[in-house]
Amino acid sequence: MKCYYHPDYDAVGICKNCQKGICKECVTEIDTSLACKDRCEEDVKRINFTVEKSYQMLQTRLVQSTHSGGAIVYTILGILFILYGLFIIDLELAYLLIPAGCAFLLAGYMSFRNSKKLNPSNPPD
Ligand SMILES: [Zn+2]
Ligand SMILES: [Zn+2]
Repeated sequence: MKCYYHPDYDAVGICKNCQKGICKECVTEIDTSLACKDRCEEDVKRINFTVEKSYQMLQTRLVQSTHSGGAIVYTILGILFILYGLFIIDLELAYLLIPAGCAFLLAGYMSFRNSKKLNPSNPPD
């Protein structure tokens, strides 16, 4: 693959924001992600920031939900993750989000079953 900006140079990576091939003249590294120098730096910073924030939020929710029997929280998060994963253009992120979403749906189902088992006042089915 060649650099999008320099057709004569070989690309060394793909920009996380615009998914174009970039050569070593054009590349810059943000955390562990590659970005087009001076073009996509801000966007990649924003993407990384958003991902980090949503994982932080998720961790907080997980802690909260262990206190409040969060079958519904798990299920909602699972659906949100899968939808987000399906509509996002960034494949790398989708590969993270979709399995995470499935894990949440499963966790939601498990804690729903557990809460039924633990609470005999619930009617069966
Ligand atoms: Zn770019
Ligand atoms: Zn280049």
